[in-house]
Amino acid sequence: MSDVLDVAVIGGGQAGLACAYFLRRAGLSFAVLDGERGAGGAWLHAWDSLRLFSPAQWSSLPGWPMPAAEYRYPTRDDVINYLSRYEERYGLAVERAVEVEGIARDGDRFTLATDRGMRQARAVISATGTWRLPFRPAYPDQNLFQGRQIHSAQYRSPGEFAHQRVLVVGGGNSGAQILAELSLFANVTWVTPTPPSFLTDDVDGRVLFERATARWRAAQEGRSVDLPTGGFGDIVMVPPVKEARTRGVMHSVAPFSRFVQDGVVWRDGSGSDVDAVIWCTGFRPALSHLAPLDLVHDEGRVRTIGTRSVDEPMLWLVGYGDWTGSASATLIGVMRTARTTVAEIVGALA
Ligand code: FAD
Repeated sequence: MSDVLDVAVIGGGQAGLACAYFLRRAGLSFAVLDGERGAGGAWLHAWDSLRLFSPAQWSSLPGWPMPAAEYRYPTRDDVINYLSRYEERYGLAVERAVEVEGIARDGDRFTLATDRGMRQARAVISATGTWRLPFRPAYPDQNLFQGRQIHSAQYRSPGEFAHQRVLVVGGGNSGAQILAELSLFANVTWVTPTPPSFLTDDVDGRVLFERATARWRAAQEGRSVDLPTGGFGDIVMVPPVKEARTRGVMHSVAPFSRFVQDGVVWRDGSGSDVDAVIWCTGFRPALSHLAPLDLVHDEGRVRTIGTRSVDEPMLWLVGYGDWTGSASATLIGVMRTARTTVAEIVGALA
């Protein structure tokens, strides 16, 4: 078992790298342990045509703005390239591929069981994201359906669904972007539990982040702020979605009642033959490595104040979305909580 680190960061995606940037500046001994074989985190697994919903300079990690991309909204590969160069730029020696199988309290430190041996650290940052835990809602008789079912996390490109009858289920950015692309190749029906909420054309990730920041500042100062509704869960009109709107395909239907062997039955009793279903129904925090600490409650989260665990005060959780900080599941948004997390750790280790 190697030396006891000040901090172990589990996960080397954007959240883990943002924390590493501040840990390096704080002069703490740390290791970033990441399960992937290369840089990029979840972006390594996103579909080929995925675009950021924020322009490059509004998708930056601390210290180094994302270089302008060929397109106003960078591609998946632009993000992977940026994250890889970010690691090099700051000499962040992310250890790969290391799978953290569990962490346990061990006196005044944690012991981390990994597939490459045991590690010990006085503090732990969990930055494992959500991509590994796709969420699929339960529908009646789903087991009868003989067609193909995948989650958006497994979707790569439209070719494999060409000329098929496909249901895209889910009204967020994944559903909208996959519908926009797939509708050029297949017969697609978009199913959303409620009518989809489109942001206006002038609102993108940059505007959403500015609004999230204004709300955050107001909350810090104990005042209210009057801003248009709409947030990161609403659909940003990136170019492919705008183009699909001109084709009249951005219309959804209410959910079906149940599956049958070769399709679905709708609420009015009518049926449709379906070849495939793509579940664009979001994700849940990937926290299985925390199981030995028995902290994950029934909503799949951990009780925190900010990013700090209430029940394990030397554990912090970064990058999981609003419950760990406003806009924290975005490239530019994670900076704020990474900075406060490391400041708390410096205080706790002093
Ligand atoms: P991840 O990127 O998932 O990285 C976590 C890392 O931890 C991974 O490398 C994983 O392998 C590793 N890991 C997990 N468990 C373990 C373990 N037990 N041991 C070791 N390693 C482990 N964000 C934006 O900022 N702008 C956008 O435009 C944007 N668009 C999006 C569009 C879609 C369709 C989706 C789904 C998300 C989008 N996001 C966007 C959000 C962003 O992709 C994710 O929130 C981001 O990837 C989260 O980063 P992360 O570092 O928290 O997690």
